[in-house]
Amino acid sequence: MAGKVEGPAIGIDLGTTYSCVGVWQHDRVYIIANDQGNHKTPSYVAFTDTERLLGDAAEYQVAMNPTNTVFDAKRLIGRRFSDPSVQSDMQHWPFKVIAGSGDKPMIVVSYKGEEKQISAEEISSMVLIKMKEIAEAFLGKTVKNAVVTVPAYFNDSQRQATMDAGVISGLNVERIINEPTAAAIAYGLDKKSTSSGEKNVLIFDLGGGTFDVSLLTIEEGIFEVKATAGDTHLGGEDFDNRMVNHFVQEFKRKNKKDISANPRALRKLRTACERAKRTLSSTAQATIEIDYLYEGIGFYSTITRARFEYMNMDLFRKCMEPVEKCLRDAKMDKSSVHDVVLVGGSTRIPKVQQLLQDFFNGKELCKSINPDEAVAYGAAVQAAIGEGNEKVQDLCLLDVNPLSLGLETARNNTEQRAMTVLIPRNTTIPTQKQQVFSTYSDNQPSVLIQVYEGERTRTRDNNLLGKFELTGIPPAPRGVPQITVCFKIDTNGILNVSAEVETTGQKNKITITNDKGRLSKEEIEKMVQEAEKYKAEDEDRTKKVEAKNALENYAYNMRNTIKDEKIASKLQVAEKKKIEDAIESAIQWLDTNQLAEADEFEDKMKELESVCNPIIARMYQGAGGADAGGMDEDIPSGGGAGPSQD
Ligand code: AMP
Repeated sequence: MAGKVEGPAIGIDLGTTYSCVGVWQHDRVYIIANDQGNHKTPSYVAFTDTERLLGDAAEYQVAMNPTNTVFDAKRLIGRRFSDPSVQSDMQHWPFKVIAGSGDKPMIVVSYKGEEKQISAEEISSMVLIKMKEIAEAFLGKTVKNAVVTVPAYFNDSQRQATMDAGVISGLNVERIINEPTAAAIAYGLDKKSTSSGEKNVLIFDLGGGTFDVSLLTIEEGIFEVKATAGDTHLGGEDFDNRMVNHFVQEFKRKNKKDISANPRALRKLRTACERAKRTLSSTAQATIEIDYLYEGIGFYSTITRARFEYMNMDLFRKCMEPVEKCLRDAKMDKSSVHDVVLVGGSTRIPKVQQLLQDFFNGKELCKSINPDEAVAYGAAVQAAIGEGNEKVQDLCLLDVNPLSLGLETARNNTEQRAMTVLIPRNTTIPTQKQQVFSTYSDNQPSVLIQVYEGERTRTRDNNLLGKFELTGIPPAPRGVPQITVCFKIDTNGILNVSAEVETTGQKNKITITNDKGRLSKEEIEKMVQEAEKYKAEDEDRTKKVEAKNALENYAYNMRNTIKDEKIASKLQVAEKKKIEDAIESAIQWLDTNQLAEADEFEDKMKELESVCNPIIARMYQGAGGADAGGMDEDIPSGGGAGPSQD
């Protein structure tokens, strides 16, 4: 676990498409709204010719700037470029991904006119920075500590890479916890007792593009993931697509025109369908109204909940399969499940809830916490525990490792490369296991320790996490040298492997963390510096916008002021003309210098003020105290103008 830094700790649900942040305050969890008033922030980062955009601002401009707007970084983090899932996901992304050194996937974007290669860790760090800023705006103070959630099936490398994203963002990630564990904590299921003391909880998490089912067992505050299942590409977007296809056909029938090759029209239709889908979760019918959908033709239609359910029934049923699989894997009967928890926006769909409830023989589902917020809610509770908060102190949290960990051993001939498991899957972490191995040929001077994760018996079917060589084995017949290999997993699920030769008292020891696309210390250092550069550029940009707005506000307010009859009548004609000319010139300058630097706007402001302020001041002196008091509100002021959305 990372060391504690002073200040409040927040809980962050770092999602594939959306992220959410919560904090424990006044004995309760607050899910914090962002600057747009939304509790969910798109996990989007965009790069333009002038700036970097995060969250909603990045998502808003995706249609205009698709190749430089990055999302889904969570699908890349901790994976190799050649990973089949990366290769398949890449087909659907408008942004470019290439193989970097060590087979690490790198996202290629154009930023300020220059090509840049960015890792998934950096993109995630930018999303974390956004979430940190949202929390800081709410709390009114700097936030340093966070608990971040990851899917239960994330392997060592993906967890490590998420930790790295935290370091780059400048956050002290106190702990990484599993998303289903966080959801169970949110419902306080760890505190509710049962007769056997053990509680089985099924977390059903159906989001926009991913579907995860996890079966947890909670006993005395210890969480154990018994099984996970799901579908990395199933969710709300698939339901939207079905509706889009339905209306594309209807448009074709009504207008004899096919919109399916027109991305702009499809985008408009998809947005309308997503909205209709949400409506159908609470009403029996929804309308679609799109003016000018295609070639000037508008589209107006309705859809019933029954029709929507019919067109998605196969997908809804498919959502039940991982539930069955999870129970099968955990060798548990559904009647032994104490609680079923709903997570993810798509669990609001009544049919999905009904199928799930029917599967569990009418059991009430845990749905009182907003399903978009349950994970961040639990992360915030966990963050408060880390802070030593009394109200939540009675919670202790332990997770398990999601996949078996072991090393490659040779069986008789070199063809048979077997997986020897040291830490079986679902072992409660932190944990440490060691085992003694030996050489397989006479006078063998070294051994290669290859660390794998996975459930298959042959290593070639499992996932290589890293390897290292242990040299300096004294000459001896095969099977004589004693090599102790130690696997150690810390509370964040991060693995360290070490090995030593102990035969002749001589010891060799080496530790690996993970070389699978993991960032080196130097790389992280470089990225931290980059992050600071981005931050400075963002601040620069804010300063620029503020200076520009101040000038614009001053000029337009002044223009309104001198148009006011009460004021205009007190000005000499020449004075009025002088102000008007100065305002006109400033506004013209503004129109042609939108991208000027902050100090240029400030200089322009001073120039304008130096013309207007003396005249206005003189006018007030001439007008006398009482009168001037009444007019104060009309006088524009240069300061205090906030940044605008530009
Ligand atoms: P998440 O990834 O958990 O934020 O889930 C987002 C998904 O939930 C999107 O596909 C949304 O369209 C979907 N969603 C949100 N609210 C509703 C609702 N009321 N009914 C149906 N789907 C919803």
